[in-house]
Amino acid sequence: MRLVTFSFRSEARIGALISKGAQNYILDLNRAVPSLPADMIEFLNMGAAAMAAAKDAVAAADDRFLILQSAATLRAPVPQPGKIICVGYNYRDHTTASGADPATPEYPNFFAKYANVVIGPDEPLVYPRVSIQMDYEAELALIVGKRARYVDEAHALDVVAGYTIFNDVTARDYQNRTRQWTIGKSFDTFGPMGPALVTPDEIPDPRNLDLRLTLNGQEMQHSNTRHMIFSIPCLIAYLTQAITLEPGDVISTGTPSGIGSMRQPPVFMKPGDTVRIRIEHIGELENPVVEERL
Ligand code: MG
Repeated sequence: MRLVTFSFRSEARIGALISKGAQNYILDLNRAVPSLPADMIEFLNMGAAAMAAAKDAVAAADDRFLILQSAATLRAPVPQPGKIICVGYNYRDHTTASGADPATPEYPNFFAKYANVVIGPDEPLVYPRVSIQMDYEAELALIVGKRARYVDEAHALDVVAGYTIFNDVTARDYQNRTRQWTIGKSFDTFGPMGPALVTPDEIPDPRNLDLRLTLNGQEMQHSNTRHMIFSIPCLIAYLTQAITLEPGDVISTGTPSGIGSMRQPPVFMKPGDTVRIRIEHIGELENPVVEERL
């Protein structure tokens, strides 16, 4: 399933993307299964029963509950995640290009972003008035489906409700002023996410997904998740030694080489740009960059 949060007639609800013939629809899950909540985190909290009910509704695809995708607005699949946990230097090519120690690090380098960064597909990414180094980072993210602590690697994928695309947008000037990256990573709108939470049954192998980022149509990043240093199970196992993961938490798995600040000459995003990330089997996430208006 491709689960989404969407707005229709100014109401936010959850649904599933469905194609029929040449048309793309959203199946309104709250109308198809009235017992399901309108909020993705509440839905995930209901666990396997809610997921099974949604799956049945998608299989039935009752015309009465279909909304033309063009008539609705997709939001981030989880608009207000409790946690957004990111990992730095998790692709071999990116680590080497950054001048960081190319030897395999012993531990993953986690950092946090806050929910103020989250925007959905096509929502404007705001170019801040104080930074001149706004950079993109194409990443595969996972969305947690159940509460988890002390999960071993063998069972770690049971925790994953699904996968999505995340753009770990970064103000490099702010990031590099200090050793802690938090401020440079957490400007408002610096976390485009979506378009859907794609359930694991739709993804043959999360360790082999092609990912590609274009800026104004020009390819800037192109890699594959097989080049990750720490695998998704490894990240989950290590994180849950310390942190209780909750449904709706987002873990973004790092970016490959090709970021703007490492290019010769450097390339940063500016108002009027369009940044697009495509990940195999997951979809495409596009956002326009706009001037800040405050
Ligand atoms: Mg990143």
